Amino acid sequence: MSRKLCIFASDMEQNNESKMGIGGLLRRLLPFVTPYRWLLVTTLVLTFAGSLMAQVNAVVLDRAVDAINELLHLEGGFQWSAAARILITISAILLGKEVLAALITFGQRIFGEKIRINVSRDLSLRVVDRILTFRMAFFSTAGNEPGKLQTRIDRGIMSLSNTVKNFFIDILPLFTSAVLALVLMFAANVYVGLVALAIIPIYFWITTVQGRRMKGWRHRVFGTHQQLNHGILNIIESIGVIKSFNREQVEAAKQATLQEQSTDQQMQTRRISFLFEGLKTFVEQIGTVLIIILTAYLVLVDYPGMSIGKIMYHVMLFSNVSAPIRQLHRIYDDLNDALVYAEGFFGLLDADEEVEKSGTWKGEIGKKVNGRFELRNVEFTYPGGTHAIRDLSMTIEPGKTTALVGLSGAGKSTIVNLLDKFYSPDSGSITLDGIPLEDWDTEGLRENIGLVLQKNHIFSGTIEENIRYGRPSATTAEVMEAARKAYIYDQIMDLPEGFKSNALQLSGGQQQRIAIARMFLKDPPIIFLDEPTASLDAIATEQIKNSIDAIKQGRTVIVISHNIGQIIDSDYLYVLNTGHCVQSGTPDEVYRQGGLYKDIFDASARSMNVDKIAETLQ
Ligand code: ADP
Repeated sequence: MSRKLCIFASDMEQNNESKMGIGGLLRRLLPFVTPYRWLLVTTLVLTFAGSLMAQVNAVVLDRAVDAINELLHLEGGFQWSAAARILITISAILLGKEVLAALITFGQRIFGEKIRINVSRDLSLRVVDRILTFRMAFFSTAGNEPGKLQTRIDRGIMSLSNTVKNFFIDILPLFTSAVLALVLMFAANVYVGLVALAIIPIYFWITTVQGRRMKGWRHRVFGTHQQLNHGILNIIESIGVIKSFNREQVEAAKQATLQEQSTDQQMQTRRISFLFEGLKTFVEQIGTVLIIILTAYLVLVDYPGMSIGKIMYHVMLFSNVSAPIRQLHRIYDDLNDALVYAEGFFGLLDADEEVEKSGTWKGEIGKKVNGRFELRNVEFTYPGGTHAIRDLSMTIEPGKTTALVGLSGAGKSTIVNLLDKFYSPDSGSITLDGIPLEDWDTEGLRENIGLVLQKNHIFSGTIEENIRYGRPSATTAEVMEAARKAYIYDQIMDLPEGFKSNALQLSGGQQQRIAIARMFLKDPPIIFLDEPTASLDAIATEQIKNSIDAIKQGRTVIVISHNIGQIIDSDYLYVLNTGHCVQSGTPDEVYRQGGLYKDIFDASARSMNVDKIAETLQ
């Protein structure tokens, strides 16, 4: 795990500072936008055309006022026919312009939106592809918990695609229009142009101060909002505990404090925002007044090129100049967000060191994997720092069932994780059929291993789809056969929709058997069973034991279980204590040695009340 990524993941929510500049952000975004370069060019052309259209009103009004003015001062007196001609021309131009502008805006928005949606899709596809290649250690590192990872990805994609949208749909047209309006103002009169230009830095300055003042507050509001959401989720999840301890009022008080905090923060943010908005409107109005005074003065002194129509002309153009600047603080906020979240997002794409390593050995051609694992002096520490395996040496014999026994936390599941190459040992060696695990092609290795966990993740989908996950190419008949072998066929057929039923509606024991059916379909030579019957009732446990007995035949099996009945069925067992192997041998041998295994065995028998059970059975 790169340190950068770790720090970022945990500090992202509190820390709004970012090392990535705007240039860096756009550079990273560029490869995602370039595939749509023609769409981009079309959008830009339309943007430019739209900006031209935005100036038409000012030009038409300028000409219209002058023409009407001329008409009023005509020597021969006012003529209705001439007035009608002017009005018809104005209406035709303005109507035509509106139709054209509407079409252009529609095209520009739809193309801009198409770029945004496509970029957003490409960003999520890239990050999902990337995460699928990451090693398990990445997912067990602090800061990469599912919720946090999801937030990092969601916010990254949202703020990056917003940057694209801001740029191409909102900002670019407004700024092009502003530049064009400014050019027209300068072309008509340099002094008026200079007044309009002078307002811009003042606006920028106010926006920057506003952005700076708002930054901290916005983040505080976001943090409190997250805490509130989290709090509500916690209440719903723990409602049983809250009710049983009568702690409703305590929970309500916690929420009330947070709500109060949130209200204060929101009000403070609004207050700052309204204050600055007012200031900006004031500056804008001052600009408009200055422009009216200046143009009126120039008309009165008969300055060359200045007619009465120019007063309206400049006022309208000035509103085009100030329109985008009014939006500056929003761009500022969005860009700040994008800078913060982009770093976390691109951090995921850049984390090459997290990609799972693979060797090239795929086993001997035409020969099945034998299944002999050898561990020699293996040491392993989880990314969080737990030293889970210490100087461990053991041999897993092919075609046999080996049990791993030990108290909770002894390191049994960790061994399975290491054998499946989910993690690599810190030191020592692990070989399969004499080949070091790191030399094995990871995909090839996992093709040979079937894993049944305590809680098998059933995907949302039908039962058939879930079983077929073991071998996507399997026929329906094969899926049904696998279900039969896992003793679940009849129960599935009793459901109204049979194999098409939703797999998530099955009970824990039934889901476990679906996982075993999946294993039958995969038909791997090596099987790891990690407490497959924990938390199941006695009937389900017995049925699963039958399924497992069926699948064990001729395969290398490692079984982790607290169920003595399953352990004594093994050919060989290893007893683990704090990551170290303390005893090994056949179940009988190890029991006769005494020690930890005997303690666990006897305690288990006592807890089951074996004597009473025997009496009852007689
Ligand atoms: P067992 O299967 O014998 O109950 P495990 O192999 O699950 O024990 O755990 C061994 C030790 O490693 C425990 O201290 C456990 O807390 C720790 N551990 C297990 N999984 C992880 C993980 N993903 N990240 C960090 N520590 C872990």
